[in-house]
Amino acid sequence: MFQGEGMEQSSQNWFSSVETPIKVTGRDAVSWDESRDLVVVGFGGAGVATALQSLDNGLSVIALDKFAGGGATIINGAVVYAGGGTSVQKEADIADTADNMFNYLKQEAEDIVSDETLRDFCDTSPEMIDWLQDKGVKFGSTVWHKKTSYPGPEYFVYHSDNSLATSYKKHATPAARGHRGYVPIEEGRKATNLGYSIFNPLKQSALDKGLQLETYHEVRQLVVDDNQEIIGVMALYFDNEKLLKKYQKLKQRAERLLMILPPILPGYNFFAKRAMAVLEKAKALEAQRSQKMIEAKKGVMLSAGGFIYNADMLNHYAPKYNASLPLGTEGDDGSGIRLGQSVGGITDNMDCISAWRFINPPLSFGRGFIVNKHGNRFIDELVYGATLGVEMVENHEGKAWLILDKNLVKAALEEVSGGKALNFQRDLARLNVWFAAVKSPTIEGLAKKLSLPAEALKVQLETYNQAARAQNGSDVYEKSDDDLVEITGPFYGIDISLDAKLFPCPALTLGGLKINEATGQVLDENGKVVKGLYASGRNAIGVSSKNYVSGLSVADCIFSGRRAAQHISGH
Ligand SMILES: Cc1cc2nc3c(=O)[nH]c(=O)nc-3n(C[C@H](O)[C@H](O)[C@H](O)COP(=O)(O)OP(=O)(O)OC[C@H]3O[C@@H](n4cnc5c(N)ncnc54)[C@H](O)[C@@H]3O)c2cc1C
Repeated sequence: MFQGEGMEQSSQNWFSSVETPIKVTGRDAVSWDESRDLVVVGFGGAGVATALQSLDNGLSVIALDKFAGGGATIINGAVVYAGGGTSVQKEADIADTADNMFNYLKQEAEDIVSDETLRDFCDTSPEMIDWLQDKGVKFGSTVWHKKTSYPGPEYFVYHSDNSLATSYKKHATPAARGHRGYVPIEEGRKATNLGYSIFNPLKQSALDKGLQLETYHEVRQLVVDDNQEIIGVMALYFDNEKLLKKYQKLKQRAERLLMILPPILPGYNFFAKRAMAVLEKAKALEAQRSQKMIEAKKGVMLSAGGFIYNADMLNHYAPKYNASLPLGTEGDDGSGIRLGQSVGGITDNMDCISAWRFINPPLSFGRGFIVNKHGNRFIDELVYGATLGVEMVENHEGKAWLILDKNLVKAALEEVSGGKALNFQRDLARLNVWFAAVKSPTIEGLAKKLSLPAEALKVQLETYNQAARAQNGSDVYEKSDDDLVEITGPFYGIDISLDAKLFPCPALTLGGLKINEATGQVLDENGKVVKGLYASGRNAIGVSSKNYVSGLSVADCIFSGRRAAQHISGH
């Protein structure tokens, strides 16, 4: 029996408009509207990589997207994680090897994929950058060498991970691996909506190679034959031009509202709510769509993104992250994952979320210390922001406060002024210092104002200051001596909890369908492949499904999409 049938019976766990599969005796039993070798469901990063590699291999491909295409990929920060001696790293004089990259990434990926897959990912990383460049993607080679969550617009290669943190350095020599797609300097100041620099050249290459792209086509059902093979999909689309135009206009209006502020800034939610109201109007039109049956002669690729925009699904799988800010697009509704489940595909790591608690820049924020609700420190404050965010949520009830002093606050404001930081980094730092920070001349007074245990906070302060004075690598969380400064009064405390009002914590989902790591085929509960069905990007378990560092999701989309394309094409 297909899991879809079981899921229908327990629909309280379904949370999706995806329906149970259409069962037919064989291909001839269906009157197909379209027929291609490969049907790509969801045209974002993973979808475009699958489509393009398949076209290069001589397949005919149709890509369907519920909306305009591009997904989270086109609105992202354009960082691709790559190393092992890429052409860009060489141009930038960055020494790196595939082994070194593997040793680093093993710490992030842990056992989410086999060592063989992780090695393959690292070994082929330079080739991936060559492939992207060959398809028209441009990268810059100016390097930012220090710790940062996102570099200034003039820098295109940086340590987009934990590689500079002492505890990670023990296992791998730091090498900058965040490759930013090239965008003009002024554009780069936004830090979001830059993914077009990666996505658009790939999309154009695919179109040039004969891709049939159908936007505003939502896949609702898979079609399965008597041999339990997936042979096509059913999509809903507007066959009335006027209705489609009206729908698109509403969508564009909502998108404009969503772009007024970057998601990380408070105030974004205000516009997001207005956008959602517009989207509700668009949704009402969806009832008037028609059905289209599309045959897949060689395979169906599920590449429809994560599920962070599906609040019910998030609450079901990862309720600890309910208070986070969804980072993605409306397309991240989990429908790709549900489509896979509807035919028996199984999922993994659905509770794994990447929560971005980026505090640096300003670097001086990272030089303060962070405590949980018991007043205890729990981390090297200058680790990668998602490492901090996940630790805060998983092990400290999502509660944390950043403790600074007057000197650090002054330095922080200076570090974000005069164009030295990106606008959203500047605004976030200022907002929190000016409107959220609690101040007190004494640590006991600060503890009282923050409702934290005074004794614990005092002990943390003393221990932190001892390590800062000693400068002998004695910090209990291995924070590097350069970043340890003695903190003296007056003291400042900033709420950086998951639900902090002025410090939103964006999050995206990492779990997905279990796949055969050599081919990208979806697996069922017996570990057998679901014939004709593939998954990639955030629809699937991949290299970035345990811990995300900047660029790893897009790199995994390209890697997993191309890998499946090779199998579908019989290469
Ligand atoms: C602001 C922001 C910044 C980020 N920065 C980075 C970064 O710099 N580097 C990095 O690696 N990651 C970054 N991420 C995360 C990364 O962008 C995503 O994890 C990644 O792009 C997901 O790619 P995907 O191909 O799996 O899905 P997407 O790119 O989201 O594509 C999925 C597509 O499927 C479509 N779809 C959904 N359901 C259906 C359906 N039923 N039928 C048809 N189509 C459907 C959607 O409309 C969408 O177009 C960022 C994310 C955001 C939001």
